[in-house]
Amino acid sequence: MQGNAFKVAILGGGPAGIAAALMIRHISDYDVYLFDANPKIGRKLSVTGSGRCNLTNLELDPERYYSTQPADLSPVFSRWSPADLRLFLDRIGIPTIATDDGWVYPQSFSAANVVQILNGNLTENNIHIIENTKVLSITLYENQFRLTVDNRKDSLVFDRILIATGSKAFPQLRADTGIVSELKKFGIHVAPFFPALSPVLLENEPHKLLSGIRLDVNLKLFRESRQIDESFGNIIFTDFGMNGPGCMNLSHRIQLLLENHPYFKVDFIPQEKSKIIEGIFNSKQDQNYPYRDIFLSILPMKLVDFFFNEWNIATDTKCSEINHQSFGSHIDQLRNFKMQIKGTKGFKESQACSGGVLLSEIDLRTMESLKIPGIYFAGEILDVVGPCGGYNLHWAFSSGLIAGEAMGKP
Ligand SMILES: Cc1cc2nc3c(=O)[nH]c(=O)nc-3n(C[C@H](O)[C@H](O)[C@H](O)COP(=O)(O)OP(=O)(O)OC[C@H]3O[C@@H](n4cnc5c(N)ncnc54)[C@H](O)[C@@H]3O)c2cc1C
Repeated sequence: MQGNAFKVAILGGGPAGIAAALMIRHISDYDVYLFDANPKIGRKLSVTGSGRCNLTNLELDPERYYSTQPADLSPVFSRWSPADLRLFLDRIGIPTIATDDGWVYPQSFSAANVVQILNGNLTENNIHIIENTKVLSITLYENQFRLTVDNRKDSLVFDRILIATGSKAFPQLRADTGIVSELKKFGIHVAPFFPALSPVLLENEPHKLLSGIRLDVNLKLFRESRQIDESFGNIIFTDFGMNGPGCMNLSHRIQLLLENHPYFKVDFIPQEKSKIIEGIFNSKQDQNYPYRDIFLSILPMKLVDFFFNEWNIATDTKCSEINHQSFGSHIDQLRNFKMQIKGTKGFKESQACSGGVLLSEIDLRTMESLKIPGIYFAGEILDVVGPCGGYNLHWAFSSGLIAGEAMGKP
């Protein structure tokens, strides 16, 4: 690492760090060093989207990102919209395709291919890829940053550095937030990390009886009588509780609520579904039509039978045996079924984390620290987390590209 070229270090070879490295080289001739503690860069990226890599989302709504201290993210998304990101990916050899629900994937539907192609771009652009190397410390000396790493005795000197070291989620892929203690030395504040996009553990028995059922529900998260958040989406009941985007999108809220006995109110017949059921009941009310079949028109049989048991009525009950008041109460229970929450599956099964470097200390037009000029941040190390559906890779790539644009400037 010699010579007089302007030197830039990127800590973390995930999508944020890689995007920044490519952008810096695109607009400058700076010497770029990309460090990653893993034996190969893009390790987490290679398992995203169940191996298919959900890159962004056509319906991306900035309001759906969560930060411990909310901030206006528009500088990032107005510069890098989903369409802009798709153009960038296309230009570097990763053409994309959107599914009907707007989730965007590589045309190859392969996260491994994406990592391979990004690697090729880095090599083509003469970016120094330093794998198997963990940055241990950062010191600032005469406007330059000195880094020590775990496999060299001497320190390495850089003019600008990007911290793109990710979060605590999925430690089995060597997710590591050790760098946070270095940041604290510079007075940079970091909100505590909590599991996000995690399966949810439930108390009591109902989920076990419902295990295997998958459906779209509306979930409201409560602490005592106060609604904290809400999410619509697919869930699957399991032996431990609930999985799937519907509940994962609320999981980052749970840890802080645990002392207050949080619970979900599950709406099993959201949107027009309750209207359909009510319509069928009204048309069959005085007939010998099986009451159970009304619910089977919409809901899985196992769920319907669970509720018939809860309501203490026989499965061969006829519509004519049910009065309006009972029907109303059954609908109410299907729309407000209370499930007590025990916790989350923790960092080990979380796809992301809440918490991270506070946005109030970052210039979101450049991703530069407002406290220490020359230090930039991108990706999941920042206090931003989005729901399932490509939101987090969009954040990682776009914040990395913005940091790269700023770091590549004279
Ligand atoms: C199973 C799973 C599936 C997912 N699927 C999706 C999906 O389909 N769509 C989506 O939008 N998001 C998905 N995510 C989330 C997404 O992967 C992350 O948000 C994204 O990878 C964050 O990018 P990043 O570059 O900030 O950090 P990472 O990708 O975590 O990269 C950070 C890198 O920094 C390295 N590092 C850490 N500390 C140091 C150090 N001190 N020195 C050197 N290197 C260091 C780490 O080894 C790591 O490789 C998924 C996550 C998981 C776990």
